[in-house]
Amino acid sequence: MKAAVLREVGRPLEVEDVQIDNPGPREVLIRTGASGVCHSDLHFYEGKYAIQMPVIMGHEAAGTVEAVGSQVSYVKPGDHVITCLSVFCGHCERCLSGRPVLCDRTDVVRSESEPPKLSQGGTAITQFANISSFAEQMLVHEHALVKVREDVPFELLALIGCGVTTGLGAALNTAKVEPGSTVAVIGCGGVGLSAIQGAILAGALRVIAIDSVENKLTMAREFGATDVIDASSGDVVRRIRELTGGGVDYSFEAIGLKETAEQAFDMLRNGGTATIIGMIPQGVKIELDGPSFLREKRIQGSSMGSNRFRVDMPRYIEFYLQGRLKLEEMVTKRIKLEDINTAFEDIQQANVARSVITFN
Ligand SMILES: [Zn+2]
Ligand SMILES: [Zn+2]
Repeated sequence: MKAAVLREVGRPLEVEDVQIDNPGPREVLIRTGASGVCHSDLHFYEGKYAIQMPVIMGHEAAGTVEAVGSQVSYVKPGDHVITCLSVFCGHCERCLSGRPVLCDRTDVVRSESEPPKLSQGGTAITQFANISSFAEQMLVHEHALVKVREDVPFELLALIGCGVTTGLGAALNTAKVEPGSTVAVIGCGGVGLSAIQGAILAGALRVIAIDSVENKLTMAREFGATDVIDASSGDVVRRIRELTGGGVDYSFEAIGLKETAEQAFDMLRNGGTATIIGMIPQGVKIELDGPSFLREKRIQGSSMGSNRFRVDMPRYIEFYLQGRLKLEEMVTKRIKLEDINTAFEDIQQANVARSVITFN
């Protein structure tokens, strides 16, 4: 099969022939229908996070089941599925206490002694996030996918596989935004726009979008933001305080920077909660105002929207079909696998909400 292989930090990906193994007992082989290009892919491409190379990136995908392992009964060939990097074992303490996103993941990946899932002429290629979706096929554990209805296009289902679930889930599951509350979202890419949509689904009265790129703020309004702040024109925290008369109940950071993470905390009203969604680079430390804790201000991380993806993703599809969740508007470019490097450049230049690779 064809896949886009990353061999070195910063070096353009190349589409090459790659061998994909047959499914193990609990694995599923999927024909990729579509894959979003997520900002997290770029972090590894740019070397902000380390990964063993060569690697096939991509982790936001949907497709059709082609073959299943001997012990798989959940899906059969022909089923439509969304993949999720939050593969869960189903029997560890985290899974059993209702937080499968934090699964200890002992036996859902192949061990060193087993053959690699992906290889080229006998050399192993790293599978990214247990998925590797910049490829015509994916080989994943049965607990890394959810079966979904078959009347929604793959390019929209793919978005639910990471960005939408991460943003919506941060508002609905991690922060549990309350009806009537005031929310600020810093960073209006695919995840930030999804956090805005999540806050609105939760009943937030006011959702303030913050970004320094004008067309992203325009999109934020279209996705339901009630107010927008251009971060390039002055002190964001001061303007949030003026706008809200003291600060917001919930803030979401969807960029992954020290400065904006600190702003997310500083813009809270007393008792407010800041949720960090963005991937803050390894080694970066965040500085917070100590006395704020006496006013019960909180800051927390959110992993993939604290998802229980087999429950959440089918619900998000229903929200979409009811007209309560925008997905089409999020796809700004449909591209072919060969155009993957252009998609990375677009993210670097803040051009798009989402490029989606479609496969035939
Ligand atoms: Zn992602
Ligand atoms: Zn587990």
